[in-house]
Amino acid sequence: MQCIVLFGIQGSGKGTQAKRLSEALGYSHINMGDLLRDHVARNTKLGSKVEDIISVGALVDDHVIFDLLESILQDHVDGIIFDGFPRTIVQADYLVHYFEVQEVYFLDLSEEEAIKRISSRRVCPECAANYNIFSKKPKVDGVCDVCGTQLEMRADDTPEAIHRRFEQYFEQTHQLIDYFEDLGLLYKVNAARSEQEIFEDIRDHLSKKGY
Ligand SMILES: [Zn+2]
Repeated sequence: MQCIVLFGIQGSGKGTQAKRLSEALGYSHINMGDLLRDHVARNTKLGSKVEDIISVGALVDDHVIFDLLESILQDHVDGIIFDGFPRTIVQADYLVHYFEVQEVYFLDLSEEEAIKRISSRRVCPECAANYNIFSKKPKVDGVCDVCGTQLEMRADDTPEAIHRRFEQYFEQTHQLIDYFEDLGLLYKVNAARSEQEIFEDIRDHLSKKGY
């Protein structure tokens, strides 16, 4: 089965691009975390396995992930957009072996830009509505449109917390980036642009490759 992989740190717009691409190409959008949670919610055989693993605080291991991928392979879809998967080289090997990887897009964002984007987010502690002080302002500064509560910044959206996530992220992903680069399957996308510009860049690149 054909697939496209998207990598990108929080704030890079990875999820949004994955969604738009899946709609444009008629592919399924697979976010592994969401898929695992869905299996748990539906109480499937896999779901109960995942629940057991999570309840003892362990990471979901590759076997479970491979079972999931096998079930995806049986779906009757034109292709898959993987959002934030694979996470390890073992998973990447599996993916390359069983799927036809069309391209891997790395949405490249500087730490400075990520901090700017993430630290401009605000959330309502009461109803969980999301805002952004640049791009999605509330009608009254600092007040929730829905319920009138004072907006807050998430505790993990501080520059220090973002810096820590950045370091962790690159520690986890630089090997994967190298892996796909060696296979000639990596395209770096400048993610410090608008959603539309990033989307067009990816589409242009895909059509140049004949997809
Ligand atoms: Zn609210």
